[in-house]
Amino acid sequence: MSGKPGPSAASRPFGERTERSFFCRSCKRVHRGLWVPEGWYVVERAVGGGARHLRLGLYCSLPCLEQAAAGHLAEAQAVNAQADLARDSARIVERAETMLHQGMTIRAAGDALGVPTSTLRHWLRGLWRRRGYRARPEN
Ligand SMILES: [Zn+2]
Repeated sequence: MSGKPGPSAASRPFGERTERSFFCRSCKRVHRGLWVPEGWYVVERAVGGGARHLRLGLYCSLPCLEQAAAGHLAEAQAVNAQADLARDSARIVERAETMLHQGMTIRAAGDALGVPTSTLRHWLRGLWRRRGYRARPEN
């Protein structure tokens, strides 16, 4: 049976499949072929909503996958740590502000919240600058 060429086969000779290069993102090993080589790992990240997964890479072996995962993990942890810190500082600075309104000094508020005075002052300045206040926390 000759069959009909698929829509994507129109641009190449009938019946011929194009070889592709697959390479391992960790060790840079290259494999030429029609498909992802047997035993390799394909890493995809779901983006949700039924959208096509985002392909992060191909890995030729578990050690290569592991090495890459460690890199992804370190990157993700750094991003999460930054987000955590930003969230924590926002929460702390909000509580500190309430304490200041109640007449506490920055030092006393910092002590109560377990934050060094200089750090708390820095966060408050950032908050007030974002709001456009000109007042500077001096106490
Ligand atoms: Zn590899």
